[in-house]
Amino acid sequence: MKCSRCGAESAEDSTYCSECGAILDAPPLPPLAAEEERTETTVGAYPPVFGPPRPSYQERSAVRSLNLAELLFLISGILLLSAGFQNMGAGVAGLPVQFLLLGIVATIFGLVQIALVVMPGMMSGLERFRGTLTIVIALLFLIWGMAAAFGPNVGANGGMIVAAGLSTTLGLMLREGMIR
Ligand SMILES: [Zn+2]
Repeated sequence: MKCSRCGAESAEDSTYCSECGAILDAPPLPPLAAEEERTETTVGAYPPVFGPPRPSYQERSAVRSLNLAELLFLISGILLLSAGFQNMGAGVAGLPVQFLLLGIVATIFGLVQIALVVMPGMMSGLERFRGTLTIVIALLFLIWGMAAAFGPNVGANGGMIVAAGLSTTLGLMLREGMIR
């Protein structure tokens, strides 16, 4: 007896197909391949989607998310901006010129560091020097911040500047795989 579903031969008196288990004298079912295809379609459409169509996987992966190193660079940039403005204010208010200098340098590097994370496409000119630039920022502000924290006339907000240098250093180490 031939199975109308999968085509396997079974014993004449059997009720069910020995291969696929279909009832042998039942009306013919659609062939297996078609049934599998139909099942997949059904599974794919479940659960029913309400509302606007969801974006496909490719579209979703185009949305960028920050990694931890970038977040640390961003924090460092914000700290530098904040300390930079304070120093510029002190410099303008008549404190020694190094306050103003530290203020300007910290503000510029803070902006660069934020821009490198937030709009990498627009900073493509700097992108080539990003590695060097980041190391310079880390070292410069670790040392300058330390000096400002302990020296009386080097600059204000030394602690914040050290924190910025440290944040950049940690970001660098993360990116280079030195820490996880
Ligand atoms: Zn069968």
